[in-house]
Amino acid sequence: MEKGLTSFGKFDFSKMGRIFLEHIGGSRMFSCAGCDTILTNRNELISTRFTGATGRAFLFNKVVNLTYSEVQDRVMLTGRHMVRDVSCKNCEAKLGWIYEFATEENQRYKEGRVILERALVTESDGLDEYVPNP
Ligand SMILES: [Zn+2]
Repeated sequence: MEKGLTSFGKFDFSKMGRIFLEHIGGSRMFSCAGCDTILTNRNELISTRFTGATGRAFLFNKVVNLTYSEVQDRVMLTGRHMVRDVSCKNCEAKLGWIYEFATEENQRYKEGRVILERALVTESDGLDEYVPNP
């Protein structure tokens, strides 16, 4: 489990008056289908073989610009997991979920990883301006 995630999840961005968005580089970008906020890239993609509420879903190592729900106890095909729903920080659309804790030993690799549903994100080529210029 990632340290600090719990306090981050309770952080209330709506009270700050403005939203801070992070940038993440890469050649293939995944962004929110609703508002085009950049979420992650192909380098962070672990698996495309997951299923979400809307169908195919992707597992990512790191995703930025999310807000997190309270922890929920959810029984899935692969066993019991503690998860939080994740939503777009900008438009608040629900995008998937993050694994906080897996009870099955062979599912522990998913802890701290994020599922984004394929139908709720847009995949596109990264922009040149995101490539670091040495
Ligand atoms: Zn959005």
